[in-house]
Amino acid sequence: MIKYFIYCRKSSEDEERQVLSIEAQLAELREFAKQNGLFIVREYTESKTAKEPGREIFNQMLSEIEKGNAEGILAWNPDRLARNSVDGGRVIYLVDTLKIRSLKFPTFWFEATPQGKFMLSVAFGQAKYYTDNLRENILRGIRQKIRRGELSAKAPLGYFNEPRLRTIEPDKKTFNKVKEILRAFATGEYTLTKIQSKMFSLGLVGKTGKPLHLSSIEHILKNPFYYGHFQYRGELHQGSHRPMIAKKLFDQIQQALKDNGKPRKKRKEKKEFLFLNFARCGECGYCVTADRKIKKSGREYVYYFCTRKSKIQKCSQHRFLREEHFAEQVKEHCQKVSLPDVWRERYLDKLKMWENENRQTSDLFAQNLKKEISAIKAKLERLTDAYLAETLELAEFQQTKNALMAEKKTKEEKLSDFERKGNHWLELTRNWIIEANQAKNLALQENFSEMKNFLKKIGSNRRLAAGKLEIDFKKPWQFLAKLPAEARAAGEGEAATASNSIWWTM
Ligand SMILES: [Zn+2]
Repeated sequence: MIKYFIYCRKSSEDEERQVLSIEAQLAELREFAKQNGLFIVREYTESKTAKEPGREIFNQMLSEIEKGNAEGILAWNPDRLARNSVDGGRVIYLVDTLKIRSLKFPTFWFEATPQGKFMLSVAFGQAKYYTDNLRENILRGIRQKIRRGELSAKAPLGYFNEPRLRTIEPDKKTFNKVKEILRAFATGEYTLTKIQSKMFSLGLVGKTGKPLHLSSIEHILKNPFYYGHFQYRGELHQGSHRPMIAKKLFDQIQQALKDNGKPRKKRKEKKEFLFLNFARCGECGYCVTADRKIKKSGREYVYYFCTRKSKIQKCSQHRFLREEHFAEQVKEHCQKVSLPDVWRERYLDKLKMWENENRQTSDLFAQNLKKEISAIKAKLERLTDAYLAETLELAEFQQTKNALMAEKKTKEEKLSDFERKGNHWLELTRNWIIEANQAKNLALQENFSEMKNFLKKIGSNRRLAAGKLEIDFKKPWQFLAKLPAEARAAGEGEAATASNSIWWTM
């Protein structure tokens, strides 16, 4: 049976920040050894860089191997063993002389064939090799934290993130207060708003000193962290932190939440003005405000007018615009940018044509990229063969390989980028056609609050002067807004023909 040494290393250098901690490496390797039935005789750990030769513990381990006290090494990745050619060469030499009969890495598969040794020497030699495993390592790091019962997130209210130990600890200032709140809510005698004011009086407030939002309070009440668990990616895990309450109390809180935790609907606010904050004064640029007036007849009217607050420029806009007149103009603007049904169909047909043409050209584009990528792959294979056949020097091999890899990456990104958003503009055009056609219905239904939102979205510089509403429409709405009335009338009529060439000049 082969005897193995475990070797773990992490340097304190910046570039290795993302590498697993020694503790995490050990845990993973022990697990790996167990699963694969490896016989471990000793564990070595070292916090040194492997860029230069001369690591004490590493040398010690190799001399133990030379003496025959073990024939295998288990490490997280080849880059843990060596990142310089001297140490790498020593390991490979020990493999060649059969002092090392097995090298195991959870992240790298090795066998003592010429090809295997070649791959290993590349792994030893490539300084940037570790970045390939970055993602995997980060994920392992998170798993390791979870295994230790640590939540990698912001501490909930009542706790704080201990920066040095990276644990979550009770916060002396708030721990007992939150506990009091949880107990109070569990009695079932509190609604969310009542518990909100109780929290406020205890000084449990948000960042700005205001009462906590009801939704954050609900979140606190539902957080399993308080009884000792925590959630990660939808899964519950046993935490290592000090629980605040028992699970039983937590269950009572959940019941209380069901019974009376629903926040009551706010009393209806006094009726707001429909077009407030919709337009500015066309002369001075100040906000247009609104007011209610009751006429002698008893009828109530709403008026819009310039606040005339500018001190620099005395505004001359005295006119009051009645809400119904305002509304009428909003409707007109909506009609102006709407697309008649007939033209909706024609545009959609045209779009279908574009989509077909586009599909053909984009297929070709993607095909070409794919061809180029597989050509690079073939080149890489030939290059490796040439190196193995010793017709290439290592330096030359690496240089060419790196250049090819970079080129491949660029092309792959281009391809996935293209596949993601190649047809984006067609999508946008389709949305525009449908939205413009919908505008007609908004106007028809006299849905003024929707019309208002729609105009806010598609138009800027909305201004009011001398009782007249003006809007600068964004492209391509501008095109519709500028259509002469006759063209629109012709476009809306049943007799609309393709001879209304203006509709095609988008
Ligand atoms: Zn004004």
